[in-house]
Amino acid sequence: MAKPLTDQEKKKQISVRGLAGVENVADLKTNFNRHLHFTLVKDRNVATKRDYYFALANTVRDHLVGRWIRTQQHYYEKDPKRVYYLSLEFYMGRTLQNTMVNLALENACDEATYQLGLDMEELQDIEEDAGLGNGGLGRLAACFLDSMASLGLAAYGYGIRYEFGIFNQKIVNGWQVEEADDWLRYGNPWEKARPEYMRPVHFYGRVDHTADGVQWVDTQVVLALPYDTPVPGYRNNIVNTMRLWSAKAPCDFNLKDFNVGGYIQAVLDRNLAENISRVLYPNDNFFEGKELRLKQEYFVVAATLQDIIRRFKASKFGSTEYVRMDLSTLPDKVAIQLNDTHPALAIPELMRILVDIEKLIWEKAWDIVVRTCAYTNHTVLPEALERWPVDLFQNLLPRHLEIIYEINKRHLERISKLYPGDQDRLRRMSLIEEGDVKKINMAHLCIVGSHAVNGVARIHSEIIKNTSICTKKNGILLGHFLFGSNHTVLPNLNFKENKMKFAAHLEEHYKVKINPTPGYHTAKMIIKLITSIGDIVNNDPVVGDRLKVIFLENYRVTLAEKVIPAADLSEQISTAGTEASGTGNMKFMLNGALTIGTMDGANVEMAEEAGEENLFIFGMRVHDVEALDKKGYDAVSYYNGIPELKQAIDQISGGFFSPTQPDLFKDLVNMLMHHDRFKVFADYEDYMKCQEKVSALYKNPKEWTKMVIHNIAGCGKFSSDRTISEYAREIWGMEPSLEKIAAPDDPR
Ligand SMILES: *Cc1c(COP(=O)(O)O)cnc(C)c1O
Repeated sequence: MAKPLTDQEKKKQISVRGLAGVENVADLKTNFNRHLHFTLVKDRNVATKRDYYFALANTVRDHLVGRWIRTQQHYYEKDPKRVYYLSLEFYMGRTLQNTMVNLALENACDEATYQLGLDMEELQDIEEDAGLGNGGLGRLAACFLDSMASLGLAAYGYGIRYEFGIFNQKIVNGWQVEEADDWLRYGNPWEKARPEYMRPVHFYGRVDHTADGVQWVDTQVVLALPYDTPVPGYRNNIVNTMRLWSAKAPCDFNLKDFNVGGYIQAVLDRNLAENISRVLYPNDNFFEGKELRLKQEYFVVAATLQDIIRRFKASKFGSTEYVRMDLSTLPDKVAIQLNDTHPALAIPELMRILVDIEKLIWEKAWDIVVRTCAYTNHTVLPEALERWPVDLFQNLLPRHLEIIYEINKRHLERISKLYPGDQDRLRRMSLIEEGDVKKINMAHLCIVGSHAVNGVARIHSEIIKNTSICTKKNGILLGHFLFGSNHTVLPNLNFKENKMKFAAHLEEHYKVKINPTPGYHTAKMIIKLITSIGDIVNNDPVVGDRLKVIFLENYRVTLAEKVIPAADLSEQISTAGTEASGTGNMKFMLNGALTIGTMDGANVEMAEEAGEENLFIFGMRVHDVEALDKKGYDAVSYYNGIPELKQAIDQISGGFFSPTQPDLFKDLVNMLMHHDRFKVFADYEDYMKCQEKVSALYKNPKEWTKMVIHNIAGCGKFSSDRTISEYAREIWGMEPSLEKIAAPDDPR
């Protein structure tokens, strides 16, 4: 049973009663009890809190169903252009609250659960995060789905239904330990499996060139089983679809040469095929060239493109005789947005469908592909760029390798006509990188195969424009678009309440009042350093309660929603030119924190919108960093020249924070002193000076609040609705709309 409510909570409950329609509340209670009985098969004597959560989730879900079906019927009737957002990550977090808010059911549900003696917030806390993303890129995809539905766009998110999302991070003795994120253990009330729409995806095999054309044969087949999740718009009765594919072995998997004894092994080996959708790679801004990841990338692309073409051909427009034969009108009805290079195989796969299966000539197929696809670049860090070994492709996707070679041949022919004799340019622009291991540069593939390429902040677009390998007939085509701020992190400017809530969270979880790659190893050492500093600072009698250093364990969407509204100062301190945009910066700004930051990523535009005097800007600009690069960055000279820096570094390397293991952080310090790509010491002095300004201003609440207000007033530009409106008009050729469609009758 739910714990009794406090007086304050009761007051809040009563205050919403007036807003919740009495009829609605009665229906919700009826349906809640019906689900508890018929869906959960429990009575109130044996129901757990999780049962109550599922009963509530199912009750709310019922209100989506009619709208979902109606929206899809509406799209069929109107037959608008469709946009397909392809992403290896959708970092959705929780669904219940967002659904209640978008359907205007929150007050009524609050009242209904209250009348049933339950605490809705407590039930909401039972929902698992859908953690199918690493960070900004995946969260962006989730915000975009929300905004596309709110703006009435016929949009679909397509990705993978990972059985295990981003790992749960445990901190054990100050070290990060990963635990599997078994988010589907208790079932997912928001998804609907669609086994009737299963599609085959082929791997391996060989290519036959015959008189009738090219055939990819002797392949291994894995089935893609779709799961649909509703994506409601904000109070407009639109419900779009996110379709995530799960891998399923075909019934005859490995049974082709069936013999006694082989059968059991063949069934056991079904796991191998189904491993494709087992787990999200936990690599943020880092490329790890594993075959299983390439399989994931092709799996989502191959299944999705079959769906796109089928839907196009089944549409009113697409089912006409002429269109079926020709397909050159595909770009009038279909836009495909590639969220980074992860789904880049959409380009050669669509070529394969058009040329090998639909029998179009190359030039016509290529024109369709380029007019359909658009690509968003997310980073300039070289370690993040996808460069797949040719050998891996040759084995796994032999036909796609041939197609990429043909794309490259024609691409280089065009470049040599434009720049005769410029061998160096040809080498730079090639899709194939020569070297010890021949590699395919997926960003280059995306740039040549798309009609629009965009970065994620103005400064980022400028950087890729300057370093871009590719020019098009009409020059370099690069829009600049911002990441959107997050619909689910809405401003609650009751800082006292936010801080109290977050402090309660800290107290509960920390008992404190207020396959490893080198990069991964460094990240883990940095976490250990932070927790070690915490051990010293938090137990220092002189510091006392004035300062606590806490590493927030298992940062995720739900934790972001708690910590961001409670924060006063947001540190966005990447060395200029290294952070593409950032989105955390925008969320803090919207929620009333002030920013101390460098002129990097979206900070630049935040300063422009709020006024530079309303942020604490410090450090090198991009051109300063470039100048320092030319001159040669010498960390040791900063170390020797700045006494406080020297003291801090000496304490870290000398074991002050790791007394039982004095050498623990020697490697980390060695990295900072001798091979720090981010040149952090160069910004140190200015950062410390800027922090003095922050401290001085914090003592003046009136001035501080004034700055906060300027920030909140200036953050409208960072709404993902605005971003999506720009994508729609400038890239997809679609018109966003705030109109509602007709509401269906909700469940009784
Ligand atoms: C917004 C968000 C991110 C991205 O934050 P950045 O500061 O842009 O890196 C990562 N994780 C979660 C859970 C988020 O909500």
